[in-house]
Amino acid sequence: MIPPGFEYHRPRSLDEAISLLAAHDDAARVIAGGHSLIPMMKLRLAAPEHLVDLQDIAELHAIRSEGQNLVIGAMATQAEMIGSELLAKACPILGETALQIADPQVRYVGTIGGNVANGDPGNDLPAVMMALGAVYRAKGPKGERDIAARDFYQGTFLTALSSTEILTAVRIPTPPAGHGYAYEKQKRKVGDYATAAAAVVLTLSQGSCSRAAVALTNVAGTPLFALHAGQALVGTRIDGTAIDAAVKHATAIAQPAADQRGPADFRTHLAGVMVRRAIQRAKERAA
Ligand SMILES: Cc1cc2nc3c(=O)[nH]c(=O)nc-3n(C[C@H](O)[C@H](O)[C@H](O)COP(=O)(O)OP(=O)(O)OC[C@H]3O[C@@H](n4cnc5c(N)ncnc54)[C@H](O)[C@@H]3O)c2cc1C
Repeated sequence: MIPPGFEYHRPRSLDEAISLLAAHDDAARVIAGGHSLIPMMKLRLAAPEHLVDLQDIAELHAIRSEGQNLVIGAMATQAEMIGSELLAKACPILGETALQIADPQVRYVGTIGGNVANGDPGNDLPAVMMALGAVYRAKGPKGERDIAARDFYQGTFLTALSSTEILTAVRIPTPPAGHGYAYEKQKRKVGDYATAAAAVVLTLSQGSCSRAAVALTNVAGTPLFALHAGQALVGTRIDGTAIDAAVKHATAIAQPAADQRGPADFRTHLAGVMVRRAIQRAKERAA
């Protein structure tokens, strides 16, 4: 299928890209790896008249540590996240999750910015960003602002970004050394989106859970931050009772649609299985 016609722009600076968006407003969209946008254009689900390609903007590609934060430029690819020694050491759930996205061909081109800004509840990185307490930095004609990942998703393909803003970086508070983490994803086959998936990040202090966050992928119109599921673990030794309570809280907020991946009650049940496995694995990994 061939997408409708569009004008292609390739700015070399962020300010130039923002000016292009401001000039064309709703008629323009940024393109990063194109691995979600181009399929949508081919299906005529999106028809931007102007595409603003971000790939020549050098400042959007870096992965670095800045004070207490890990900062990942929006144009860093999923493959670069997997290959980053910094991320592997400081926040290994990022590589673990990126490795479960699609296949190497997609990951070489697909970016972190495109994955989290897309607003597709099937994308894997948003739930992980919610569990990590990440913040998205956006820049537009009125300047810069930070939006918590937990507040960013407003509906399916609907986010807190305005049409003239660009997500420039994902900022992640560096988790404490020895934290436990896991991203558990059930999919029908390699390369598929999740039937259900769960991200868990937690910290143990002398065997007791001092911090825990749980988030879910593809079991509602948006990624879900399961606040009460995390709270059910804090102050416990993450025993069977605590895990049962966390699973109950997480499945209570799941509202999956029935689709080719299964009926709604099956996907809700599966979300619970993913949460249970992720908690258990995160606990095993926590020092
Ligand atoms: C066969 C296949 C299988 C896939 N399987 C999975 C999977 O299992 N899990 C998963 O998570 N993903 C999957 N994907 C999606 C893939 O990860 C995409 O690359 C990703 O969702 C979008 O990243 P992108 O860089 O390609 O963004 P694009 O497609 O270029 O953009 C996506 C959207 O985000 C907007 N956007 C992009 N960058 C920015 C920015 N910096 N600021 C503001 N808006 C921006 C665009 O305007 C567009 O609306 C799959 C894709 C394919 C083709």
